[in-house]
Amino acid sequence: MRYLSTRGVAPTLGFEDVLLTGLARDGGLYLPESWPRLDLNALTGLDYPELATQVMLPFLGGRIAERDLRRLVGEACGTFSHRAIAPLRQIDGRTWVLELFHGPTLAFKDVALQLLGRLYDHVLAERAQRVTIVGATSGDTGSAAIEACRDRSRIDIFILHPEGRVSEVQRRQMTTVLSPNVHNIAIRGSFDDCQELVKAMFADSRFRDEMRLAAVNSINWARIMAQIVYYVAAALALGAPRRRVAFAVPTGNFGNVYAGYAARAMGLPVERLIVGSNRNDILTRFIESGTMEIGEVHPTLSPSMDIQVSSNAERLLFDLCGREGRRLAAAMEALQRTGRLALDAEQHGRLRSLFSGHRLSDSETLAAMASLHGETGELIDPHSAIGLAAARAVALDRDIAVVALATAHPAKFPEAVERATGRRPALPPALADLHARPERFTILPKDLATVQAHIRTELARGEAA
Ligand SMILES: *Cc1c(COP(=O)(O)O)cnc(C)c1O
Repeated sequence: MRYLSTRGVAPTLGFEDVLLTGLARDGGLYLPESWPRLDLNALTGLDYPELATQVMLPFLGGRIAERDLRRLVGEACGTFSHRAIAPLRQIDGRTWVLELFHGPTLAFKDVALQLLGRLYDHVLAERAQRVTIVGATSGDTGSAAIEACRDRSRIDIFILHPEGRVSEVQRRQMTTVLSPNVHNIAIRGSFDDCQELVKAMFADSRFRDEMRLAAVNSINWARIMAQIVYYVAAALALGAPRRRVAFAVPTGNFGNVYAGYAARAMGLPVERLIVGSNRNDILTRFIESGTMEIGEVHPTLSPSMDIQVSSNAERLLFDLCGREGRRLAAAMEALQRTGRLALDAEQHGRLRSLFSGHRLSDSETLAAMASLHGETGELIDPHSAIGLAAARAVALDRDIAVVALATAHPAKFPEAVERATGRRPALPPALADLHARPERFTILPKDLATVQAHIRTELARGEAA
């Protein structure tokens, strides 16, 4: 199995190189040259770890042995607090919620990142290499990356967050991880300052090479690969291939819903993919109008979806451009230059034949949370509420099972849940003592040289230990 870049210029790579590289050198995203075919009958009845092993194995192209993959998957699944990993809960006659939030940081990113950290460590050990992961967070993704990398022997991770501007729970989920390879830095500045510092460190090629900098960002192919599994698991549990399914996905960077698209390309009977968005609705507008137009980012109650550029959408656009890298590269260049990308009628028709979009304002999101609570007594977080409302809004044949992906535990967004329902969700048992745990982090000014010097010193100290 080889991987090609969506922009068509970078060389094709094998799985391990795609894992470690992330973004292709021509600015594109990596995709498998062809889709492996799912044998749904052979996969029926497997438990989640074995299903994951079988679904992902063809993507590795023999570069990682099956028994090693099975062990890494088993360890990643072992960090989840629910034995089913991604349990399904029926809400009404045709709607199910797929709970993807039973991982260590209570959000769906754990499903992929717990495996990604272990795959990194495995490949780096074989190559006798180390990496230093550097990232900026506005609160949510930092903890998932830290949990994925903690105690991995060949990774150091430095996460920058804006001092005093992330919630207490978000900060503590990062700073109470005391593993020696985890380094939290609170920057005296904004999230944008943090992001600027990270960008500047990657742009400093001497520093980048010396520290062997790497990123675990949402465009990494291995994250998509790991997310394909729960689409297959849910569809099989609901009776596929005899029964057709649709998925509704609260969407930001398009990584999650793209994994559903990939599962369909592999032969899963996915009838429709429903993209849920908040006020930052670039994708729902794109599906409705065929034109992608970049606007301003507005803060909402579902902050993990507050984005204007959905980087993973490039993988879908590549298919809409007939898998021609040059044509896609020209479209992306125009989007960058003019803030606008328009599909032709044929491309738009293909997009609409599979995707629907649905957007919710903050008040509609609160109403969806309140109405589920009134109906069933259950609490749901604002992101998941957008997925569920989208699932219910789109008209489908009555025999189709609709699965709404729940991407965060309600306790991750307690203020919004309380505002909608009057009830404050409790942290699950594994995190119940979070507020009593000791923290460790370093406060630094928003100064590149100071941050670089700190990283150098910390790494040298780690080598000496
Ligand atoms: C990251 C995230 C999303 C958006 O997922 P994408 O793959 O970026 O579309 C939705 N909900 C939650 C809770 C998230 O953390």
